[in-house]
Amino acid sequence: MRWRRRARKPTPVNPILIITDAYHFAAAKHVGQRRKGVAEEPYVNHLTEVAELVARATAGADIDAIVAAVLHDTVEDTDTSFAEIADRYGSRVAGLVAEVTDDKTLPKAERKRLQIEHAAHASPGAKVVKLADKTSNLRALAVSPPKGWPAARRAEYLAWAIDVVAGCRGTNPWLEGQFDAAVADVVATEGVLA
Ligand code: ZN
Repeated sequence: MRWRRRARKPTPVNPILIITDAYHFAAAKHVGQRRKGVAEEPYVNHLTEVAELVARATAGADIDAIVAAVLHDTVEDTDTSFAEIADRYGSRVAGLVAEVTDDKTLPKAERKRLQIEHAAHASPGAKVVKLADKTSNLRALAVSPPKGWPAARRAEYLAWAIDVVAGCRGTNPWLEGQFDAAVADVVATEGVLA
């Protein structure tokens, strides 16, 4: 019976529906959160920037990576679980988010050390999300540095971001160029040595 065979075919999912759903989901999860910078930008601004960088870096070809970029801070900073992401967006998206999520049960210094260590072993998709995340954070550091961060802390963050990204290099030359431009902007603004 032909109609039955047709009915068993998986329904192709329109990527626009998935991406807009992810934005709506992330905006609801991060509602009320703001960036640490003096401008106190809504947190969702960071998510849109990271996702836009990933989309451009991959020429829109890797929908899972774009969705993971939108969701990359949901588990770390909201009540979202990996199971919730896997149910809604699939196991690859959940895996990519897991790769860029810190274990918050560990002390901060250990989490920062592990980011440097893990970056080199991350999947190509996770490396792209990580590169975009650090690019967005350094752009923010140049134009809207976190309130109460003295110059030494800003310099320390810059050096750490460079170390994390060192493990992601060789993944996406365009995005690595965006990161390098952001580093140059911070150095120009701060006068600190990279
Ligand atoms: Zn982030």
